[in-house]
Amino acid sequence: MERLERLINPRVNEIQISGIRKISNLVSTYKDAITLTIGQPDFPTPEHILRSAEQAIADHRTTYTPNPGLPELRQAISSFAEAKYGLKYNAADEIIVTTGASQALDITLRTILTEGAEVILPGPIYPGYEPLVRLCGGVPVYVDTRDNGFKLTAELLEPHLTDKTRCIILCYPSNPTGRVMTEDELLEMARLLEARDLFIISDEIYSELIYDAPHRSIAALPGMRDKTIVINGLSKSHSMTGWRIGFTLAPAYLSQHMVKVHQYNVTCASSISQYAAIEALTAGIDDALPMKAEYVKRRDFVYDRLVGMGIDLVKPEGAFYLFPSIQQYGLSSMDFTMRLLEEQRVAVVPGDAFSIYGEGYIRISYAYGMEVLERAMEKLEMFVKTL
Ligand code: PMP
Repeated sequence: MERLERLINPRVNEIQISGIRKISNLVSTYKDAITLTIGQPDFPTPEHILRSAEQAIADHRTTYTPNPGLPELRQAISSFAEAKYGLKYNAADEIIVTTGASQALDITLRTILTEGAEVILPGPIYPGYEPLVRLCGGVPVYVDTRDNGFKLTAELLEPHLTDKTRCIILCYPSNPTGRVMTEDELLEMARLLEARDLFIISDEIYSELIYDAPHRSIAALPGMRDKTIVINGLSKSHSMTGWRIGFTLAPAYLSQHMVKVHQYNVTCASSISQYAAIEALTAGIDDALPMKAEYVKRRDFVYDRLVGMGIDLVKPEGAFYLFPSIQQYGLSSMDFTMRLLEEQRVAVVPGDAFSIYGEGYIRISYAYGMEVLERAMEKLEMFVKTL
């Protein structure tokens, strides 16, 4: 066994279980714990989408679809992206339907990365990127955004750009911080990147969950379309995490290569989910609105409670996370999280799960009902009073 184990690809061997998973596994051993760790909407998938999937099954729409997805779905994605964000992509050759945003990220990175290619990650950041970058032989280069309210700026980015920089990953609205970039901030970044030969992966999976301003995509800014791959999907906007529908928007010269990786990777996304996705993006184009109204209430409630406890944090503009600082308590984010769980049975995610640049913070998800959030805040308040 040991001899054979040594033959396992070292890049796979070195991948660590994510910090979020570790905490979730631990929480399951505390039966009475209140968990605020989850990164998926607590709303059910809208009824009309469920019905359309049932209809697809009844109609025996259970075969392979074209590799990049059903033409009708790609058309619906094209119209959705244009109506919502002013992004113009051809249904025929610039859109690929994927197995969630996760697979969209994988086919993109595998298309553009070669050995030693540097990938800029503004930290703290979603932990799903680094392992995929490493599997491609890429080198993650983190940029610390903590002193700038967790937003990457052209000024912070510039010193990290080298001849080997192949790609910059932007995730706004951000998981874990909920921060959003303004159009002016994106414009400044676009000006810096315009003349450079590199790609931007813009993970916009939370684009429908922005509370105070319309979503802006860097792909819509001057000079950016040719070098940007937009990643999005229905997991968060339509509460469809288990349906596994994501998509990429990328110029044809890139999409034609990405679709080859996709074809040999999964052939196509689930046919039934694709029919449901057509319904979601046509009849359900504004399905996120009622959820959004509820998220705003929760965000404001949790934010006000944390401020009331004397906790330092920036007010997030999107997604469903808050990322408060715990630095004043002199505990590492892991120690704070463990003690909160042990002493008050409340589970949050330690900030260091989002790279070392998340150290000193915790992530609180508000994808939970008000009653749960109220109880959790009472317990958190009792806990911090003891520190
Ligand atoms: N990107 C970010 C920033 C996410 O938070 C997530 C899910 N937590 C994903 C991508 C993956 O999305 P999907 O479920 O569609 O694969």
